[in-house]
Amino acid sequence: MRIRSVTVGPDAIEAHVVFTAGQPLRTSEVPGASERVLSLLPGLRGHRCHNGRGATFADELEDTELAHLLEHAALEIMAVSGSPDTLRGRTSWDFRADGEGVFRVRLEYDDDLVALGALDVAGALVRWLLGGGQAPDVAAEAGRLRGLRTSG
Ligand SMILES: [Zn+2]
Repeated sequence: MRIRSVTVGPDAIEAHVVFTAGQPLRTSEVPGASERVLSLLPGLRGHRCHNGRGATFADELEDTELAHLLEHAALEIMAVSGSPDTLRGRTSWDFRADGEGVFRVRLEYDDDLVALGALDVAGALVRWLLGGGQAPDVAAEAGRLRGLRTSG
């Protein structure tokens, strides 16, 4: 999984996230994904999804798109780094338009650098779930992101 591109808009960033053929696309395909993620980001338990189904993200976490997990992880890392927890995200895909395994992850932001940094850390987290590299040190990364903050 890699982040192919990021577009910075006036109040949100949109990333195109690519999963290569054969990589899991859902949390249910990754053993222990939900426990591993919650151990790093316990605040995810309090997330709600704005998908019209009224589910909490914790309900969805056992079986949802890894790109959707990336979205919530980035929002949570932003929150831990001082961004408002009212910021919203959205994950969508159109494999026919964008290519197989390409997801669009949109994140509202209060500080664009914090959002870009949080997206990067969330990407490392998803790669760790997929078996690549170390788990990110969320507390250390959040401290670094706070230092980048140009607003508030
Ligand atoms: Zn959601």
